[in-house]
Amino acid sequence: MNRSARPDQPDQQALFAWADTPVARAAPGAFRDSPQARRMLDVREVYAEPAALDSPRGQQIMARLPGVRVTEVDGHWRIPSLHGNDGNIARWVRIKTETLVLGVKHTLATRPNGRSADWIAPGPSNGCAMACAYCYVPRRKGYANPITLFTNIEAIVAHVQRHVRAQGPKTTPNQCDPTAWVYDIGENGDCSVDALVCDNTADLVAAFRDLPTAKASFATKFVNPDLLALDPRGRTRVRFSVMPPADARLLDIRTSPVPERIAAAADFLDAGYEVHFNLSPVVLRPGWQRDWADLLTHLDDVLPARVKEQAAAEIIMLTHNQALHEVNLGWHPRAEEVLWQPDAQETKRSQNGALNVRYALEIKQRSLARIRQLRTRHAPWLTVRYAF
Ligand code: SF4
Repeated sequence: MNRSARPDQPDQQALFAWADTPVARAAPGAFRDSPQARRMLDVREVYAEPAALDSPRGQQIMARLPGVRVTEVDGHWRIPSLHGNDGNIARWVRIKTETLVLGVKHTLATRPNGRSADWIAPGPSNGCAMACAYCYVPRRKGYANPITLFTNIEAIVAHVQRHVRAQGPKTTPNQCDPTAWVYDIGENGDCSVDALVCDNTADLVAAFRDLPTAKASFATKFVNPDLLALDPRGRTRVRFSVMPPADARLLDIRTSPVPERIAAAADFLDAGYEVHFNLSPVVLRPGWQRDWADLLTHLDDVLPARVKEQAAAEIIMLTHNQALHEVNLGWHPRAEEVLWQPDAQETKRSQNGALNVRYALEIKQRSLARIRQLRTRHAPWLTVRYAF
């Protein structure tokens, strides 16, 4: 790690002002070619496995990136100049903005979950162009972890279709959904940002449109108006992640500002999505209760009744990681002033040896109870699917 590198100046960027943006309102499908979209992703170089380049999806992606330099690689997991943290601290926002990796996903497996979703589907990507300070997605590749798109999307879709059909109808309601098997399709990235450069998200939304016993689900911190044109017919759940804007400005680097995510909810509902919210992560710091009360009040004030009637939420307390803490000290130490609270947190070694950090059990339980009280008081219509 290059501690002497000058840290980037992190701050949450307003990519566009949702309410006033003509492209957002007038021309769904055009956003990905807009200057606002290019502030998020302006691909200048592609690292690609040859098989990914040769695939129809790879060719489609590259046709939209004329003149972009391509470096062929043996595997999407092994790109020393991109992955890992050493030497990359000062430039990872640039890497995330300008670099794309194309690969083939060889292992297609659906895992049971049972909390947010019934199942975790094999994701169409991993990595992210955004840079949330608490993000667990970089845990395996390092923080400079640009988007890797998997180009064998037909195989991913066919796998999911087979898995859904093998389940048959869902006969027992649970916290994920009363009637549909819920498949998380975005565990390791953000499907809304992927859709700026590729149709993988569109293909999965289209596939679930024709699966009446199942529903796709993904969390997002980015408002991409192009998704409004995908016609999900109620079979895709978008979960807009929200937190007090003061926390988001410090921690949710490069994301759409929280008020924009909330303001987009009705448009997504009207376009055929189910719209839920992730109240996450809940970060404990002075004033957190007041700010979460304000956020819930804001949700209550601005969301129309039709959004409230179908909305539900997950509440997720912050978990952190010692290695990520060390990395963040090199580029965004102000974030660590709130994320790293050893007096309130306990550590647990995970199966892969990483030292994970979470709020001590008693503090966590007390805080979750308080958030539930705030919800009851300020947003009683917001069903809590689960709190963790
Ligand atoms: S948007 Fe999600 S995947 Fe992307 S950096 Fe933030 S937490 Fe990670």
